[in-house]
Amino acid sequence: MDYLPLFFDLKKRRVLLVGGGDVALRKARLLVRAGALVRVVSREVHEELDDLVELHGGQVVIGEYHPGLLDDVALVIAATDDEALNERVHYDAVERALPVNVVDNPPLCTFVFPAIVDRSPIVIGISSGGQSPVLARMLRAKLETLIPKSYSRLGQLVGGFRDQVKARFSSVNDRRKFWEKILQGEVAERVFAGREDEAAAMLEKELNADQGEAGVGEVYLVGAGPGDPELLTFKALRLMQQADVVLYDRLVSPEVLDLCRRDADLIYVGKARDNHSVPQQGINALLVEHARNGRRVVRLKGGDPFIFGRGGEEIEELKAQGIPFQVVPGITAASACSTYAGIPLTHRDYAQSVKFVTGQLKNRTSDLKFDELVHPNQTIVFYMGLHTLDKLCQGLMDHGKPGDTPVAIVSQGTSPDQRVLTGRLDDIVERQSEAQLPAPAIVILGEVVDLQSRLAWFGQTEGAQADA
Ligand code: SAH
Repeated sequence: MDYLPLFFDLKKRRVLLVGGGDVALRKARLLVRAGALVRVVSREVHEELDDLVELHGGQVVIGEYHPGLLDDVALVIAATDDEALNERVHYDAVERALPVNVVDNPPLCTFVFPAIVDRSPIVIGISSGGQSPVLARMLRAKLETLIPKSYSRLGQLVGGFRDQVKARFSSVNDRRKFWEKILQGEVAERVFAGREDEAAAMLEKELNADQGEAGVGEVYLVGAGPGDPELLTFKALRLMQQADVVLYDRLVSPEVLDLCRRDADLIYVGKARDNHSVPQQGINALLVEHARNGRRVVRLKGGDPFIFGRGGEEIEELKAQGIPFQVVPGITAASACSTYAGIPLTHRDYAQSVKFVTGQLKNRTSDLKFDELVHPNQTIVFYMGLHTLDKLCQGLMDHGKPGDTPVAIVSQGTSPDQRVLTGRLDDIVERQSEAQLPAPAIVILGEVVDLQSRLAWFGQTEGAQADA
């Protein structure tokens, strides 16, 4: 290691900052966040820097640097564009054994500033030892996206319980186990969901519970998106990686399932059309049962749980049974497939609204309000419409939708096997009977489909536009 990372307590301590420009301002912002009293010296001082330092109880000295300014300081930073001056500051500080940083000049630094991910009280510093600050910043950006902001609140909450936990568990091992359970479990999830009061109450309860007693678990209704694992949300991934049990649908891709925690129980609950492996009531009962056993249950659903996903029914049952739950939205098929097919669902010139409609017809086409679907300037997306395609097309035309309205079928959207078939309302049935695109597929209807020939960017296209 070229540098030893240490975290410096600067609260109410003086820091000398030589320089009054933009660079000094950036350093000052950091320093005041750590509670330092900044002493700025410069011939000229940036107005914002001046305000910032004054506001945080620091001191602004307009004029020349001199070694007397080093009296009673804990840390020194030189941020001027005067190389000779920077060098003087460096030697004066070193002579007094003060840590010194000369911005952008590693040989003159006895300490360096890392790239920082701030989730105080959790703070991560990343350093490249001056070799590649850009690489350090890229890593920081990665961590920023991986670590929810709410870790900060979690850190604060548990910090308040440290002494109590220490008193309760005398062995280090027991304490570690307790904290692991809290920090990966429902207490943490409550904090992430913005329910800190509940989290605190829960932590208190766990602390007083008899050892070995399992509380009620929680159910997370998670949208797994259309199939491409990159289209998962960070939250979905985090919950999948800490699940004890995962109940998943047919539409959840193997690649997505593969991202669940290694030792989670994976339970397949169907359901192919007309072939419900586990009927809905059975699924509801399973969710309740596993949660009652104190397990963290992820109910993983294709797309978005609240769009033709029966998510509402499942949480109603959980609510009735007093099981805590959360819902995580996912990218729904209409959105994913249209995007990956190059079909904008709305467009200023062609469609001012979009409707998501189920093509699954309980009895016959009279279930659908066709007269609402035939208006111009709207896009219609049919879910579960592949096997009723002929009835849908006929119904629309019978109600006055022009036969030359563009239609697209997007099959296995976002997967490497995605296929897009385009045509018109009056010929898509025939085209599909030739092409035989497999399920799952959505049907998109409206003028926007014409844009596909120009905007397609992913996978293959077949049909009218490919013929043209
Ligand atoms: N909750 C899901 C929809 C479930 S209904 C969502 O929000 O996406 C099932 C229907 O979704 C399928 O019949 C099909 O029309 C559509 N669908 C789901 N995933 C799809 C995919 N990857 N490609 C094409 N259609 C898909």
